[in-house]
Amino acid sequence: MTARIEKTTCPYCGVGCGVNFTVPSAATDPVEPVSGDRDHPANFGRLCVKGSSLAQTIQSDDRLLTPMVNGESVTWQTAVETVSEKIAQVVKDHSSDAFAFYLSGQILTEDYYVANKLAKGFIGTANVDTNSRLCMASAVVGYKRAFGSDTVPCNYEDLELCDLLIMVGSNAAWTHPILFQRIAEAKKQRPHMKVVVIDPRETATCDIADLHLGTKPGSDAAIFSYLLQHSVQENVLDQGFISRHTNGFKEALNQASESTPTLASAAEFCGVSEKDLSLLASWWAETPKTVTFYSQGVNQSSSGVDKCNAIINCHLATGRIGKEGAGPFSITGQPNAMGGREVGGLANQLAAHMDFATPGAQSLVQRFWQAPNMARENGLKAVDLFQAMEEGKVKVVWIMSTNPMVSLPDTAQVRRSLEKCELVIVSDCKAHTDTTAMADVLFPATGWSEKDGTVTNSERRISRQRGLLPAPGEAKHDWWTICEVAKSLGYQSAFSYRNVHEIFVEHAALSAFENNGKRDFDIGHFSQMTKEEYDALVPVQWPVPKGRPEGTARMFEDGRFFTPDKRAKFIPIVPQLPVNQFSQEWPFTLNTGRVRDQWHTMTRTGDAALLTKHTDQPYVEIHPRDARDLGIEDKTLVRLTSPHGEALLKAKVSRGVAPGNVFAPIHWTQQFSNASVVSNLIPQVVDPLSGQPESKHAQVKLEAVKDVSYGVVVSSELLEELDFTYWCYVPSEHGYHYEVVWPVGENVSSIQTLLNQDDASIGEWLEYTNPVTEQIRLAYIQDKKLSLVAYLHPTPESISCDWLESKLAEQEPLSEFDRMAILVGLPANVEDKGAIICTCFQVGKKQIEQAVTDGVCSVEEPRFIIKMRNKLRLLSS
Ligand code: SF4
Repeated sequence: MTARIEKTTCPYCGVGCGVNFTVPSAATDPVEPVSGDRDHPANFGRLCVKGSSLAQTIQSDDRLLTPMVNGESVTWQTAVETVSEKIAQVVKDHSSDAFAFYLSGQILTEDYYVANKLAKGFIGTANVDTNSRLCMASAVVGYKRAFGSDTVPCNYEDLELCDLLIMVGSNAAWTHPILFQRIAEAKKQRPHMKVVVIDPRETATCDIADLHLGTKPGSDAAIFSYLLQHSVQENVLDQGFISRHTNGFKEALNQASESTPTLASAAEFCGVSEKDLSLLASWWAETPKTVTFYSQGVNQSSSGVDKCNAIINCHLATGRIGKEGAGPFSITGQPNAMGGREVGGLANQLAAHMDFATPGAQSLVQRFWQAPNMARENGLKAVDLFQAMEEGKVKVVWIMSTNPMVSLPDTAQVRRSLEKCELVIVSDCKAHTDTTAMADVLFPATGWSEKDGTVTNSERRISRQRGLLPAPGEAKHDWWTICEVAKSLGYQSAFSYRNVHEIFVEHAALSAFENNGKRDFDIGHFSQMTKEEYDALVPVQWPVPKGRPEGTARMFEDGRFFTPDKRAKFIPIVPQLPVNQFSQEWPFTLNTGRVRDQWHTMTRTGDAALLTKHTDQPYVEIHPRDARDLGIEDKTLVRLTSPHGEALLKAKVSRGVAPGNVFAPIHWTQQFSNASVVSNLIPQVVDPLSGQPESKHAQVKLEAVKDVSYGVVVSSELLEELDFTYWCYVPSEHGYHYEVVWPVGENVSSIQTLLNQDDASIGEWLEYTNPVTEQIRLAYIQDKKLSLVAYLHPTPESISCDWLESKLAEQEPLSEFDRMAILVGLPANVEDKGAIICTCFQVGKKQIEQAVTDGVCSVEEPRFIIKMRNKLRLLSS
């Protein structure tokens, strides 16, 4: 049998790229690298480094393979009955609201659909929330307030067709790389296209920006408040659109005039120069084809909904919506945040884009589901949900495919709530996460390449994520597990689906049920589709009502919205700053985000050695002036403290952040580092309308961690129970790479103990100590082969460990020369590339610096390319 190529969808970000996956002909065959699907309209064959490394994440030593109850492997029947009996008991003894789901933008639409149906229609609780609350809940409410529906108006082509692209609160170069590449390419083809970045940080996205507005954190709404007034002053209002298709313009304009009466007042509020704001305003006024692209920097705010509406107001006022190259475009972070929105995967939604407050919606859904026990009102949003757990009101929680112990704000509170909960159920494909550690019941779940169903990307495009590999061990699909629990609760007939196709067509039928154009989400065309048609489904943008199988590229082209009078609504906005502000005690503003090559809490990307090369440890970015004032050197250990907790991170001294501001990535968990969970620092401050946490803003203090020494350890084995002041690790090609910090003065033997390798009967230690430089170099040899190397220094040093790591893999006994070379450092004939900058081609920082020294000015310069090629050839020969 020959291997066959199947099309599926990348499981990481909301771009939703199509992926070609070669299904091995035999179970024992290795998985080949994936490639981009040229036919997929999201990416046309491109993949970023995360997507192109997917094959490397499939084999994991840490899969959860059997159901577990209280730490013991059990049968599926035992696990399902344990869960259903407890749910039945708390519902009987307390109320339906004593149970809650906490779901994830990583699960598929079909998983979401059955979870929502079980909770809201059968158990009778709307306590169904999701980690998408942390991602785009403010964008949802912003759209609903303005349009009467959660409708993304634009598509990706609009990003290429616009003449002005305003990117707000988004480092798309790292978070949505393929969209960024499409934008960069469009700008290259159409040099008159302008890109403006509004972000407190100077990020990689600024590389293509004509203008960067480095705003005060959280101040963005004032920019759009000013642009609304400026549109009046410059006479660029679309009066016809305003009068025919909207309500409330006058009130919104009056508020804008009051909030930001002048250019100077708006510039001062945002902390930008009048010149820069004026330039943006003039481009805005003269460019009808404008898209505003916004993401977590807007949404993760205590006034995130208002920010979204400040943006939408400007587009409505100028009629820049429902047209090619124009619109307010919220980009979701997660692969299926949109799918969750479609089925009602948020606690304040009912199903199929209907809300509890939508007239007639509860009855409609109840009749469609034949539901015996409908929830009647909104459930608890994520932060409220975990607070209710701590208060003992929610007694059973089922967490699916997400890691709230790392992603929700105030980790200490999340821990207390899970400890208080009577039963914590976690469905995950990984055995060890910070959240599975809190579980009473673990359900082993299928992962990407095994899961089967659909996802929806940021431009409303539904694509198939196909089940191509068999599930390992006893892992099952999430929809199957939910249905088994539902059946065990007595709801056999409503949850007797045999496959995902049956769920999808029911979901499609509900979207069309008594719809008749009243609701935006209608995929009724699919309600009669066969299993073969479902399996062959090609990517399509909803709505896909009956009679429109090609779907809908752009919304609101007719100027009709989903409010009762079909008019969009302007919302008066008062720009607000974040809730917590500077104080003597907490003088630094912490911003959070992502690094280029990691995703969420690293449960998948943390398995791929290639993806750890770009950023191999957690860090805090700090301005040089602040670093100098605090005595913090680059790469040294820093303690960040907030009123909620603390984190240890390595300093990255950089002008990318403004003085008084620091930035830290969110990815590191206790599985990868002992003390670097950034959500420890974040307060549980939320937007009052959306419930989305202000995760991009915390007030903290920083201090240098003094009297410590630094080390790098490479080991063939994962090191257990390390007891350093700080440790973090990433996988490497042949083992594990650790960064460690410990108090000064430890001697060689105590370090050997700290490394848990002090059994002289098993291995042999080589050591070298330099009394002048205070460097210690240790190597642990087992069976004449290298098992571990530790290089320890009084100060942090950049050490390129590729050669040492390659030695871990050698099968031959170490030669005397090698033993010496390992203690001395790199042998002379191996090039030290420095930190890897280009992950795809493994080009290091030192190689680039050398090329620049050699006179190269651009990556496009043939000399540079030739030189890099020569170097790569040299290295591979
Ligand atoms: Fe995957 Fe997003 Fe990268 Fe596309 S851009 S390959 S969806 S991570």
